[in-house]
Amino acid sequence: MLTLDFHPTGHHFLQIPGPSPVPDRILRAISLPTIDHRGPEFGALGLKVTDGIKRIFKTQHPVMIYPSSGTGAWEAALVNLLSPGDHVLMYETGQFAALWAKLAKRLGLSTETLEWRGGDSDLPEAPGWRHGVQADLIRERLEQDKEHRIKAVCVVHNETSTGVTSNIPAVRKAIDAAKHPALMIVDSISGLASADYRHDEWGADVTVSGSQKGLMLPPGLSFNALSPRAIEASKSAKLPKSYWAWDEIIEMNKTGYFPYTPNTNLLYGLHEAIEMLESEGLDQVFARHKRWSAGVRKGVEAWGLPVQCADQDLHSPILTGVVVPKGVDADALRKTILQRFDLSLGAALGKIKGRTFRIGHLGYSNDLTLLATMAGCEMGLKLAGVNLAGGGVEASMEYFSTHPSQSGPAKAA
Ligand code: PLP
Repeated sequence: MLTLDFHPTGHHFLQIPGPSPVPDRILRAISLPTIDHRGPEFGALGLKVTDGIKRIFKTQHPVMIYPSSGTGAWEAALVNLLSPGDHVLMYETGQFAALWAKLAKRLGLSTETLEWRGGDSDLPEAPGWRHGVQADLIRERLEQDKEHRIKAVCVVHNETSTGVTSNIPAVRKAIDAAKHPALMIVDSISGLASADYRHDEWGADVTVSGSQKGLMLPPGLSFNALSPRAIEASKSAKLPKSYWAWDEIIEMNKTGYFPYTPNTNLLYGLHEAIEMLESEGLDQVFARHKRWSAGVRKGVEAWGLPVQCADQDLHSPILTGVVVPKGVDADALRKTILQRFDLSLGAALGKIKGRTFRIGHLGYSNDLTLLATMAGCEMGLKLAGVNLAGGGVEASMEYFSTHPSQSGPAKAA
């Protein structure tokens, strides 16, 4: 048993943008007895989850379920599709896009990174980390690549380090408009099951995701959703792969099994998560996150602090990045908020360390947990001596009370 030197009362407020708070229903499902992963019960579970997860990705094609964190699924996508030295076009929207590029280099791929062009006085350390992918830059670069040296374009759907989403259909259109054969690989690790995502319709070749965000599970499962083109490309890809290789998994998944010991108890949780998401309805789930995001944003705006996302249409439904005034250390602020109010907020990562904090509005949350979160932030900001323009909690309360939710108790009544 882990010994803590303090025991706070009540629930901890886990408002980081993943891992997200796990519903009790899922925790109970995970606590069922572990079963034989070669036995008949497991086969039934395997078939249910491999089929159900396709509906969440909105695909008819196979989805790989790995017992790994999202980083493993990033690697899986690249090693299955590409060969040593292949050139890959990445787009840096934030720290996760940058880390994916670093991983690609370590695998022996040649990478090239595009970034938003422009300045920013609120966040001069990383102006591009306030914007989504500009698809026209991708089109321009692909049109120059007459010899088709670029084998894949990698983009992040919901950049968890910034709170900015990207328009994935626009990236597909850019690749098609350039008449370029590059594969499109999308990271929707934090977007899936919280923001609208359509693997087949949007023409993704591989979509990478993870369990600990919109699926409301603990960390430990990750995914590669495939397209027929991706499966074809994997047959001639030469990067070394064994554990991550799609071919054996696709074959064994047909009967509900895996070529290795799968994460049985998390798969119980996945089964429960799919049931919960589908019984609410995916469209309702997406609307719920958008509404939370709008309510939190109202509060941040009332404080007079810049929301990190600078593109009005691209605010993340999953998290809100808040830029703190120069001279305020956002990490020290988060530390105070954790110590005083038992509330965890997301840190600013990479080149913006200490310049922002991130409020997660995903997983097992509701209006009141978000209002408590806003209260914790507001108290912390005041303790840090930040001059706030107005009451953020009040503004969020006003938004939530005047914009009724389409799901939850009001709908059920
Ligand atoms: N990509 C995005 C967008 C993420 O948010 C994360 C983690 O937060 C990752 C990749 C890496 O996933 P993991 O930490 O599960 O390995």
